[in-house]
Amino acid sequence: MDALANKTTRTTCPYCGVGCGVKATVDPLAGSVEIAGDEAHPANAGRLCSKGAQLAETLGLDNRLLYPTLGGERTSWDAATGRIAEAFSAAIAEHGPDSVAMYVSGQLMTEDYYVANKLMKGYVGSANIDTNSRLCMASSVAGHKRAFGTDTVPGTYEDLERADLVVLTGSNLAWCHPVLFQRLVAAKQQRPHMKVVVIDPRRTPTAEIADLHLPLQPDSDVALFSGLLRFLSRLGGADRAYTAEHTQGVIDALDAAEPWTLEQTAKRCGLPLTDLAQFYDWALATDRTVTVYSQGVNQSSSGSDKVNAIINTHLLTGRIGQPGMGPFSVTGQPNAMGGREVGGLANMLAGHLELANPEHRALVQTFWDSPTIADTPGLKAVDLFEAIHAGTIKALWVMATNPSVSLPDAARVNEALATVPFLAVSDIVSTTDTLRHAARPGCVALPATGWVEKDGTVTNSERMISRQRGFLPAPGEARHDWQAICDVATKMGFGDAFAFDSPASVFAEHAALSGYKPEVRRDFDISGRAGLSQVAYESMPPFRWPLRADSTQTERFFAGGGFFHADRKARFVPTHAADAPQRPAGTFTLNTGRVRDQWHTMTRTGRSATLSAHMGEPYCEIHPADAVDLGVTAASLVTVSNGRGRIIVRALISAGQQRGSVFVPMHWNDQTAANARVDTLAAPETDPTSGQPALKFSTVKVQPAAMAWHGFAVVRDAPGALPFAYWSVAPCAGGYAIEMADTEPCDDYAELVRQIIGADGVMGVQDRASGDARFLVSADESVQAALFFARDPVAVSRRWAIEKLSQPLADAAAKVALLAGRPPADQPDQGPIVCACFAVGRNTIAAAITDGATSLDAVGAACQAGTNCGSCRSEIAAMLPQDTEHETEKPQEVRHAPQAV
Ligand code: SF4
Repeated sequence: MDALANKTTRTTCPYCGVGCGVKATVDPLAGSVEIAGDEAHPANAGRLCSKGAQLAETLGLDNRLLYPTLGGERTSWDAATGRIAEAFSAAIAEHGPDSVAMYVSGQLMTEDYYVANKLMKGYVGSANIDTNSRLCMASSVAGHKRAFGTDTVPGTYEDLERADLVVLTGSNLAWCHPVLFQRLVAAKQQRPHMKVVVIDPRRTPTAEIADLHLPLQPDSDVALFSGLLRFLSRLGGADRAYTAEHTQGVIDALDAAEPWTLEQTAKRCGLPLTDLAQFYDWALATDRTVTVYSQGVNQSSSGSDKVNAIINTHLLTGRIGQPGMGPFSVTGQPNAMGGREVGGLANMLAGHLELANPEHRALVQTFWDSPTIADTPGLKAVDLFEAIHAGTIKALWVMATNPSVSLPDAARVNEALATVPFLAVSDIVSTTDTLRHAARPGCVALPATGWVEKDGTVTNSERMISRQRGFLPAPGEARHDWQAICDVATKMGFGDAFAFDSPASVFAEHAALSGYKPEVRRDFDISGRAGLSQVAYESMPPFRWPLRADSTQTERFFAGGGFFHADRKARFVPTHAADAPQRPAGTFTLNTGRVRDQWHTMTRTGRSATLSAHMGEPYCEIHPADAVDLGVTAASLVTVSNGRGRIIVRALISAGQQRGSVFVPMHWNDQTAANARVDTLAAPETDPTSGQPALKFSTVKVQPAAMAWHGFAVVRDAPGALPFAYWSVAPCAGGYAIEMADTEPCDDYAELVRQIIGADGVMGVQDRASGDARFLVSADESVQAALFFARDPVAVSRRWAIEKLSQPLADAAAKVALLAGRPPADQPDQGPIVCACFAVGRNTIAAAITDGATSLDAVGAACQAGTNCGSCRSEIAAMLPQDTEHETEKPQEVRHAPQAV
């Protein structure tokens, strides 16, 4: 092939658990990469959401970790892996296998995960390997295992399309699994009788397609589904034949649900009786029912019970495993499922086998021919970092995750990372909040390959295994994680068992283990792929497990029973809803979650100007009445605090938020904002069965943050450290957008400008009486920086100011207009970006609606908004005239709220 010809690689999106297929076309002459959805991939059939569509914007090498370091100084791979092997071996020799640990990630390939788990459980002899997937779906794993006897997700995406009732509970599918949401929207359009019920304390964009939104009280889900179980049983909804033949424990579950009359349930959940009855009536009448659940269910101190309360209703009705029926956990991360398949959680073995089962342990140890096998569960994520404080963990290897930001009580996690005797961190980025701790003397940082370079497999939420294929060479000295683990294993004396030479060789062993001793029944079996050659692995199409060696067909689970408890029957799990927690007066329940266009701790999406245009600042969503009570005005700053910490974020007043609750996104960190790591506030409380943290339920105080001045700037170059109480930085077209504020009064903003941009030749105006000041730095008829200050939040059109970075400064009048901070009449401000694909702002969409567009299609025809990936369609729908009832509830771009337009 011509080395300079364009080459297209079929791979998989690295973000959410939908697992969309991506085509990446590299143009070697232009040095560019074009991203498109893979129309042949069963998950997305060519669709991509805004995050997937902007992947090309995140591929730059700035901030990449390019070589290993030891004690913060550049070193060789040999020295770095030698140091990890030495530290792990020394700790094991002196303190035993449980003194070392790995904390890994749903971002890893299954092959990376497989060798990490093999090293820890089969060769070190400790189950101290856990994953950040513990934070997103461990409660689903626990619920599945209790009900089914194994961690089986019985549903497929097609089930959502074929259902007549889709219940979305604890899931903002529109923002967190956008392509699956778009599939659901399309199915509902084709089958208008389909009902969608959204159960969520907040009115999120997902509720835009809901026939019924149930804004239940936080953590009242067990009562809701217990009430449904009771209702179904009493009104003839039970499939007695199914429960008799295929389940155990229905009587106990119904006894536990008995207190949950319609009235009691409505009271506990804080729902209108008629709305609850409507949901129950639909559930009673609809065989084809799918219940989709996600982090809103899982991230709770009763997460496992919530999952089982949902599953109980499907077991009672026999609505499981048939087309259009079943409980369906959708995972947050791209390979959370793959991690589960190889035993990436501290209480599981490889191949979905059980750590607690001696027969399973013997099977795995025999297959691996390993000297040992862990026989007791290891430390789960939260406990692992507590064990560092207790001094029992002496050496820790963190891989592809940022626990310094993402774990609850994150400040305490930071302390653990700062004090663990030995720390190794593998990452692709050189500046994460976690990686800084690996610069301590004797500690190691390893440069890992990223999405564009990695080869392996991932499993999406519907058990579909897809190839991820690298299409660019690894930069600097970056290496694959599986290679780093094998290097360390070899240096620890286990070379024979880790002599893998490719991801294909790891996958072959993983597939062979899944079919080893088939007389030991398990759900996960891909032995049909065990003999795969390297060539066949390269071209392997997506397939759904199980794919057994003796079958070419995948199978559905549980329609005819066949569960994985010893008696082949499922278990009803009696669940007991807790009383409503008493919140101290003057406090709020803190909920955390994702925004549409960011991913995790922003180490990748935070590099994209397009994605950062949607929600450019950390914020706190507050109900309007609570805002009035608190004296919080739109777009002012607030402190959110409790005994664990205090953050400062922008207020976003929204009627979609319940009174007494606030929502703060999880993404912002010390690299992107002064003080906005929301997980510093999250309680380290976990579900007792799953160990999953209750990240959606902490108690906080919210107060106005009194600031002496506020500022906004667009600058061409990345700013250095800013010494202000509040700042946040986001990339924008042509530079960076900075929001700032401080408690210290400023007498001379010109001096402040020099501090921020270090520039002379500043043109500016200051009005000391009003406190307003504006400055412009220009060169060669282009804007280098524009900075605006005021005593109150700065009322300048952000989008318009950002556009100036990419436009020539035509004349003195243009400079004056920019200093005025106001678009001229012939350049209307399009407002905050709603449609990321075509950069269409809120004001532009509103103008199209004013001009007569009354449908999504009409808005699209008028201004293109919503016509590509569709991620913004629910936000546009909320602006349409028929939805004026909810228009005030829609999230707005935070930093634009005070602007004068
Ligand atoms: Fe990626 Fe979006 Fe598909 Fe998720 S829905 S896999 S983020 S393209």
